[in-house]
Order: sequence, then structure tokens, then C-alpha cells
Amino acid sequence: LLQLTKKLIEIRSVLLSVDQSDALKLPSIVVIGSQSSGKSSVLEAIVGHEFLPKGDNMVTRRPIELTLVHKSSNAASSSSTPEEYGVFPSMPHLGKITSFATIQRTLTELNLAVPPEQAVSDDPIQLQISSPNVPDLTLIDLPGYIQLSSMDQPEQLKTKISALCEKYIREPNIILAVCAADVDLANSPALRASRRVDPLGTRTIGVVTKMDLVKPEIGAQIISGDRYPLHLGYVGVVCKAPPTSGVLKSIMGEKENLTQAAVKREEEFFGENAKYFGGKGRLGGEKRLLVGTHTLRRRLMDVLESSMSASLHGITNAVQLELEEAAYQFKVQYNDRRITSESYVAETVDALKARFKDYTSQFSKPAVRSKLKAMLDDRLMDILEQLYWTDSRTPELTKLADDRRISPEDLDSYWKYKLETASSLLTKSGIGRDSTALVADGLRGLIDSIATGEPFTFHPGAAERIVEFSHAILRERMGLTADQVENCIKPYKYEIEMDDREWASGRERAEKKFEEEISRCDLKLSEIRKRVGGSRRLNGLVGHVADLEKWEEARLKRRLAMPMTTEDDTPILDAYKYSPAQIVDGRHALLLSNRLALLKLRQTALKSRRCRLGPDQAAFCPEAFLAVVADKLAYTSTMFINIELLEQFFYQFPREIDSRILYDLNREQIAKFARENPKIRHHLDLQERKDKLEQVLRSLQSLVNLQNDQQPRGRRE
Ligand code: GDP
Repeated sequence: LLQLTKKLIEIRSVLLSVDQSDALKLPSIVVIGSQSSGKSSVLEAIVGHEFLPKGDNMVTRRPIELTLVHKSSNAASSSSTPEEYGVFPSMPHLGKITSFATIQRTLTELNLAVPPEQAVSDDPIQLQISSPNVPDLTLIDLPGYIQLSSMDQPEQLKTKISALCEKYIREPNIILAVCAADVDLANSPALRASRRVDPLGTRTIGVVTKMDLVKPEIGAQIISGDRYPLHLGYVGVVCKAPPTSGVLKSIMGEKENLTQAAVKREEEFFGENAKYFGGKGRLGGEKRLLVGTHTLRRRLMDVLESSMSASLHGITNAVQLELEEAAYQFKVQYNDRRITSESYVAETVDALKARFKDYTSQFSKPAVRSKLKAMLDDRLMDILEQLYWTDSRTPELTKLADDRRISPEDLDSYWKYKLETASSLLTKSGIGRDSTALVADGLRGLIDSIATGEPFTFHPGAAERIVEFSHAILRERMGLTADQVENCIKPYKYEIEMDDREWASGRERAEKKFEEEISRCDLKLSEIRKRVGGSRRLNGLVGHVADLEKWEEARLKRRLAMPMTTEDDTPILDAYKYSPAQIVDGRHALLLSNRLALLKLRQTALKSRRCRLGPDQAAFCPEAFLAVVADKLAYTSTMFINIELLEQFFYQFPREIDSRILYDLNREQIAKFARENPKIRHHLDLQERKDKLEQVLRSLQSLVNLQNDQQPRGRRE
């Protein structure tokens, strides 16, 4: 036995998964017929189970591609119930469904999922039924033709269904035209459609249902095919269960037995009327008519087998051509480089880790220290502004520093106290929390930039997971790190020791900071100068604002002294000389030039001989002192942030990637992940197509060889 049909059906499903183009199609049997012609009943009789959607509301809305796979029931289990099941290949999660009621429900749901405004869809539902009781066949059930259009089945739907059928009854498919015996064949839309594409009926089988509804001689006349000849002929069937079915159903609770009952009834019917149909043992000289579901099955198997066999060479050539094209594309586009979803995932993870590692240099100790130093230096300038630059006695301090006769011990305790306040403002400014947050924010930004870059733009799910777990690591470490840092800088809140070297570098840093601050103020001032229209105008404006402020101050004093007086409030100054915006600029410029004067004064102090002497002159040079404090704080913080946060994070992150991305995905998820990337998807698709075509071609060639071997022997016999 060649088992040609079986093997070609397998090949057909592989080809369908590769390509939907007509060139690669192996023949299938397409079932067409008008609504209620008995299409479903015939299909169910062939399968031996009730499994198709039923109902008034046009339940077949999508083609059902039914693949029947004959399984020889092995000897051991032949006495027990044979294993019959259905599989929906596009929904692998449903597995093998052994209940035909479940199959029916699933099909109904899939059909009803087609939106009403669309009515029919040409997206087929694939269903494979394996059983020892079915032949190897592929059948396609299509929505029934609508005879009369009505309110709920408009003309448009009629045309839509016709077009869908038209698409399927093309070569090389075999057409199963279902007509009811009690309706004139002349009115059969199925026969009409098939005649258009197959005028001689070389690939059309007529099935005449409801033979029990007409007189046997009429039925016999119909299936003899005299009036509407078909080369492949007609088969008459009776597929309806006995009328007691409703009762039986409720008693037995099993639908399966109903089809058995139907088969029995059909046998009885044709047995009783054997003389009209040329039943067993009676040949009567006339040609024997084809009747019964059993005969129909055989007929379908024979026709499909010979059609498959005839297609063998053609399809082999077509596959060969497709394969050559696919192999060429694979060579050209990918230089024959094979990939797997697994290798892609592994490479992606490796690249991610490598990228992460590159970035970690941004978090080396010196890098972190300089970031923290910058943060603390800013804070230091704020404190200086708050305590010294706004203090009108500060110029006095500068003068004192110039006086060599005054030693630090002679200095007014006002200045000593001020220095202590400044230092404690700095050490107690929440450095643990802020420095940890600064570094953690940096890490977060790093992870976010990795997660939003290629290839993670294609993998939003994975990107989200990376962000999520890295943030979780940070959250877990942050509180601890902040406490640890705060704890370690605690001694500086009480006492700060520094040597000459530290002092010198602190003084230099402070000097640099002052230079920056001075040039920042200069820049702002020159911006205002430009806006106002040159230095002469600016001088005038500043003078005006200074007068204005003096006048305002004087008035305020007068008011405070004598609140009840009602003296004239108009300023003595020319109020119309400058616009309000210019007045604002003038006030800023006044502030800036005062600030600049002070900063320059302090800059000179910082450069003075006194400040170069060493840390015991701290009260004269608070700027240098605070710079050293900031440096110490930055150094200590970095050390502990490094141990508690960075090292932990750098250790955990790559491991989390492994456990949450690499090892956490099952095969299916890995395939899904890889396919999220369009480049990879295309690569995999082409590769898979080539592989499948190769596999199919091998099978086809071995079938061709078998056929060649078989034929001469057949002729000899
Ligand atoms: P479909 O719409 O073409 O799928 O038709 P169905 O298979 O649902 O059948 C339509 C109606 O005809 C149902 O009520 C069936 O019970 C009935 N029917 C189908 N085959 C036969 C038959 O051979 N004899 C009789 N008397 N009724 C049948």
C-alpha cells in the first residue's frame, strides 16, 4: 500500500504552514451546497460524529479546513475504546480534544467571533481529527449558499458567500456538490457553481441528500445523473437520524450514538429499496448506482487518492522551484547563517551585559566622588551666601585677615561661631540620603537608557522587566546605604581634622569655585548691560535704582517713626525715566555688582598670605575650610556608597538578567521574544520556510520514486 493520500495530507499541512499560495496547494475536497441541503449532516456522517456548529443564525461563517487522519487502532487497544480526538493546530494550547461536543462548541465560538457586520470571513479554521474510524481525507466546509435573500441575509452577503466558494472550488480541489433530493437539481447553486469551473465534472462529485424524502424511483433517477451528467457521478445518501432522536438524546446523553443510528437507518433504507438502486446481489443488468455514506467515503478516498497522485509531479516541481528561491534568498540575505530563537536570546542577553559593563565605568570611585564633590560644592556655596555674603560685617573679616598682628585667638568669637555653624550646616544637610539618591538616580538613568535602546525597542515586555527588577534592587539597597553613609560621616559633625596638604588643596578648590561664581555673575551682568544698551546707560540705571532704594529706605524709616503722618508719597525722582522692566533689570544689576564686589574681596582674601598659612587660620578663610569638609564628606560617602550600593548592584544586575530573562522563559516564550524583533522574525521565517520546503521535497521525491517503482509492476500483473 502506497498510503499516498496519508503522506500527501501530511505534506499538505506542512505546505500550508509555509505558504498559502495556490502553486503549493495539494488537492482537497471542498464541500459546497445551499443552506439546509444537508452539508453538515454529510460531513458528520463521514466523520461519524456530530461536531459541526448548529443553529438558525448562519453558524458557518468561516471555512473549516478539516483534516481527517486515519489511525490504525493497534491490536492491544482494539477492544477498548479507540482513541479519537480533534486538534486545532492554530490553538495548540487546547491540546487533544476527545469530546466532540467540545469541538462543536469551539467551532461555534470561532464562527460567532466573526463580527456581524462582516458576516463571513475567508480566514479558515483548521481542525484535524484523528481516529481509526475516519479515512485519510481533507475536506473544506464552506458557508452554505443563500437561496433567497431576506432581511437578515441581504444580497451583499449572498455575493460574499459565492465569492468565498469561488475561491475554494478552483483547481486542483475536488468539489463535493451537495444537493437535496427534494429540490430540483436545476436549482442547485452548488452544481451551477461547479459547472462554471468544471464543465465536464471531472473533479465534481454530486452528493444527493435526503433520498428518503422522495420516491425511490425518483431518487434513483436523480443519482443516475442522466439529466445533469458528472464524470465522477452522484452518490445518494440518507443522513438524518430517526425522529426519536430528541428522546434518545435525553436518555443517552450522548450524541455519538445518534450518528450510528443514522447509519443504521440509511442501511435499512437502501436495503429496503435495493431493487431501485441495485443493491447487493442484484445487478439487474443496469449500472449499479452509488448509494450510502459508506460508498461516499470510499468514493472520496479513491478520487482524492487519484487526484493527489496526479498532482504529485506538478507539486514536486513547484516545491523544487520554491525551495530554490528560498535557498537563494537565504544565501543572499543571510549568507546561509542559521540562527535559533535561543541563540538570539542568548546573544541579546550577552550584549545587554556587555553594554551594562561598559557603562559601569561611569560609576568608578573617582567618577562618583567627583559627582558627589560637585553636589557638595554647590551646597557649600549656598551656605557661604547664606552666612557670609549677606552679612554686612564680612568686609571687616577680610580686613582683619590682612592685619598680621591679629592671631586667630584674637579673633572675635562671632567669626569662630559662624564657622562652626557653616560647618555643621554642611555636615548635617542630609548627605547620606542625598548622595545615595544621586548615585541611584544615575543608575536608574543608565538602566532606562539601556531599556529604551535597541534591541529592547522591539521587546517592551523584557524592557519593562529589566527596569522593574533593577529599580527593585535599588529600592532595596537605598535605605540601608543612606543610613550607612550618614553613620560614617557622623564624626565630622563633631570634629574635623585636616593637615596642611588637605588645606592647600581645599583652598585651591575654593578659589576655583569663586572664579566660576565671579564669571557667572559677570556673564549675567553683561547680559543685562546688553539689554539696557551699554555700560553708560547701565550705570545711569543702577544709580537711579540705588537712589530709589535709598529713598524707599528713608521713607520706610519715617513711616516706622511716625505712622500717623500723611505726607506726600510721590518720589522726588523722575519716575518716568525707566520702564518697570528696566527697573527690575536695574535692581538685578545692583545686586550683582554688590555681590561681585564682595566675591572679589573674598577672592583676594583666599589668595592672601594668611590663608596660605594653614588650617589654624580657618576662621579667617571659611571658604577653604568648608571646601576641605566637603571633600572629606565626598570621599567617605563614595566609599560607602560603593560598598553598599554599587558593588551590590553590579553583582546582582547580571544575575537577575540571567534568572529573569534567560532562564525564566520557556521555549514558546523564547520563540515569541525572538519574533518580536522584525529582523530576526524575517530571518527565522525564511530559514524555516527553506527547512520545511527541503523536508517536503524529500518526502515528495521518495513518493515519486515509490510511484515509479509501483507502476511498471502494476502493469505487469
Ligand atoms: P446544512 O445547512 O446544509 O448543513 O444542512 P443540515 O445538515 O443542517 O441539514 C438541514 C436539515 O435537513 C436538518 O434538519 C437535517 O436533519 C435534515 N436532513 C439532513 N439530511 C437529511 C436526510 O438525509 N433526510 C432527511 N429526511 N433529512 C435530512
